[in-house]
Amino acid sequence: MSNKTLVMKFGGTSVGSVDALKSATQIIRDAKRDWERVVVVTSAMSGVTNLLLDSAMLAAQGKVDSLPATESTLKEKHFAAAEALIQNVELRERTKQEISDLIFILVDLCNAMSVLGEASPRAMDTVASLGERMSVRLLAAIVDDAGVKARAVTSTEFVVTNNHFQNAHPDFKATAEKTRALLNPLMDEGIVPITTGFIGATPEGTITTLGRGGSDYSAAIIGAVLPADDVWIWTDVDGVMTTDPRIVPNAITLPEINYSEIAELAYYGAKVLHPKTIRPVLDAGIGLRICNTFNPSHPGTRLIAAVKSNGKVDGKVVKAVTAIRKQKLVTIEGRGMLGVPGVAARAFAAVASTGTSVPLITQASSEQSICFAVPSEVADSVVATLEKAFASEIADDDIDRVWATEDVSIVTVVGAGMRHAIGVAGRVFSQLGNNGVNVLAIAQGSSEVSISLVVDAADTENGVKALHELIVGAG
Ligand code: ADP
Ligand code: ASP
Ligand code: MG
Repeated sequence: MSNKTLVMKFGGTSVGSVDALKSATQIIRDAKRDWERVVVVTSAMSGVTNLLLDSAMLAAQGKVDSLPATESTLKEKHFAAAEALIQNVELRERTKQEISDLIFILVDLCNAMSVLGEASPRAMDTVASLGERMSVRLLAAIVDDAGVKARAVTSTEFVVTNNHFQNAHPDFKATAEKTRALLNPLMDEGIVPITTGFIGATPEGTITTLGRGGSDYSAAIIGAVLPADDVWIWTDVDGVMTTDPRIVPNAITLPEINYSEIAELAYYGAKVLHPKTIRPVLDAGIGLRICNTFNPSHPGTRLIAAVKSNGKVDGKVVKAVTAIRKQKLVTIEGRGMLGVPGVAARAFAAVASTGTSVPLITQASSEQSICFAVPSEVADSVVATLEKAFASEIADDDIDRVWATEDVSIVTVVGAGMRHAIGVAGRVFSQLGNNGVNVLAIAQGSSEVSISLVVDAADTENGVKALHELIVGAG
């Protein structure tokens, strides 16, 4: 056996049904045959995290009427899988009881939130953690029942984070020590640790989450600290594709992608990989592969250090297209801005004070306006904060106004080969123009592997489809 340690992460759909769990179990069995040590990281069953968070939000508004329905949905979902896939009666009943206990915690928490009338980020993280705490027990029991020695482990015991609830940052040093101490003895005994993605805990033991979709990141953290040789992300599509196949059905799999390309894609909205996943595997020099639970013989996508030759796929420099929806463009404008020092620095400091990160910035050379994108839901508070920060400039008419657009989307084309190619931006513009998509703003990524265009929300799908034709099809 030449291969040593493999970390495999299963996403929500990959553990979301009886069929998916069957396939995941077979994948784990095969991996255990080929690899000396295997760690499995699992998401909550699909839909569960949303259901949990929705229940908590409603509870905080005093609405607990739908709680009994939520309770039975969660039971049905997990119990149906337990009944179909755990033959050992004792193990099955024990697993169901553990899941019931977790659902009971949800009910308790929601009732408490309804009394308090508030949903603090800290309480929301405890609620959100329940999905993975249920799925991990279910999957471990199913795998163990299928004859592959497995043990459920909750990552709050070894992923140590700060207390930035809902977007916690791991302490890699503390996490490394705890992860090795907990997982290595299990693996020495030939047991597959099956652990929760998405969640961690502060040094004091309070539950945190790594942000929505954060199970990918969990797999990368665990892979980096063990360290593992390879991290495989099992999802519901054949790897990283030229665009979201839900928007463009003829999207094709990219067999290879480099670090900067995947980083841009993930950052600009491709849900297939959480953007924070890349850094730990890159730093630790670990392999990363994205593959399909429902088509396991497909090789999927491999992350590679550098693109070969000029990075072109079939002679095309644009490799993939992606979109982030529900953004607004905020503009600060006024002719008097020309002489005012540090406007941009002050503007972004003010935005940062609201806890908002800005995915895209453009500034006209005339210095008469600064324009940037923020998520729609925070646009009003960002505008209010800016108006306050520039109150005296507004009073002096140096700044005319600060305003936000209606909803827009950021559509991004990605490809490392664009760095050396001439005329890509022109082709991108004319492709959009020919398809009736108006471009509101443009920005080029500093790494020059991406160009982002802001379009009206209504133009998102057409924009993505049109640009995808530059890769596959007519363009
Ligand atoms: P998981 O639950 O396995 O983490 P996600 O739903 O988070 O899965 O991510 C997988 C989904 O990402 C796919 O079903 C697909 O619709 C979407 N997606 C968006 N952009 C891309 C892309 N470029 N390549 C592949 N999938 C993409
Ligand atoms: N269950 C979590 C979420 O839905 C984490 C994940 O699936 O990656 O956000
Ligand atoms: Mg995901």
